[in-house]
Amino acid sequence: MALEGHQLFLSKRIVTEDEIIDGGVLVNEKGVIEKILNRKEADKLLAEEDGKIKVVDGGDVALLAGVVDSHVHVNEPGRTAWEGFRTATSAAAAGGITTIVDMPLNSIPPTTTLKNLKTKVSSAKDNVFVDVGFWGGVIAGNQDSLQDLVKAGVVGFKCFLCPSGVEEFPHVESEDLEKAFAALEGTGSVLAFHAEVEAENLPTKTKKKRNDPEEYRTYLESRPPSMEQDAISLITSFLDKTDVRVHVVHVSAASVVPQLAEARKKRVANGYSGWRGGVTAETCHHYLTLSAEQVPRGHSEYKCAPPIRDEGNKEQLWQYLLEDKLDMVVSDHSPCTPDLKCKNNLEAWGGISSVQFGNFLFFLNALHYSTFSILVLT
Ligand SMILES: [Zn+2]
Repeated sequence: MALEGHQLFLSKRIVTEDEIIDGGVLVNEKGVIEKILNRKEADKLLAEEDGKIKVVDGGDVALLAGVVDSHVHVNEPGRTAWEGFRTATSAAAAGGITTIVDMPLNSIPPTTTLKNLKTKVSSAKDNVFVDVGFWGGVIAGNQDSLQDLVKAGVVGFKCFLCPSGVEEFPHVESEDLEKAFAALEGTGSVLAFHAEVEAENLPTKTKKKRNDPEEYRTYLESRPPSMEQDAISLITSFLDKTDVRVHVVHVSAASVVPQLAEARKKRVANGYSGWRGGVTAETCHHYLTLSAEQVPRGHSEYKCAPPIRDEGNKEQLWQYLLEDKLDMVVSDHSPCTPDLKCKNNLEAWGGISSVQFGNFLFFLNALHYSTFSILVLT
């Protein structure tokens, strides 16, 4: 075996899909994993290689595959003070994330046309420390741009069913969705949804009792689970008419998970043969780590949309995750400048910045909720 330019990463705990082994990972000169060796094989290779291999010995530190975070808002260009490619990808690398996928909004311009994608890519070029993919955006009237964006390599598209928080990325109505689904038919692409629709009739007692904007519950009650449930109903109403895969970003309300399972089942029964019935969903580290009961008065750093809900909801999300009813866990990393966060819970920017800490939080939580990570961490 020609070993020039190879690297060997040693660890007593290499985490593979099936087991944890003591050994080494041999990486070739192109940076591609060539072989996973047990300790005996690694020692044999080291005895023979004659100084040609660069060896990194991690000792007891666990070695596992880099993680993809498919929900990260890098706001460059346009709002680089909120977050840029250098800082976002540095944070990702520090947190064990080796690929991020950038969301189409909060940068200016948003990633809604091929020209805008090229602007975004040129901002990222030579400015990143991990691999970066891009989501395209669906807004009213940009259906003719979608196929160009697919050909240019976007991983899929994201749209909002309620106001996004930035005016250059307006939410879509049913007629816009019809056009977007039609444009994406047969492309193999995926349409991802910020799945909340505006609540028309909040209980009046909620409005009267909770009017202190410094209280987190005032914000929480302004975005009840029914906003997510109604959005899932709207999305599933399209599934009989389209073969486009759909994905629900940042599920917060556990009550939508059975709805999604039902939608998947129905689509499969109707002959859809793609992975997971073409209906997938993610939740976020903050929904799996925090609960509304913990949020102190006057702390809008916990504000995000949909909101962090109560402890029982968090427990239920974990249950669904362990039952394989949620497909991925992401950060929804969405920073802003401090002045936009230092406001009350109704006026502050909604977003939590956790790309650097997500894996750590997940493994710590998993110690409590499952047995797998105990093997990784101890
Ligand atoms: Zn987001």
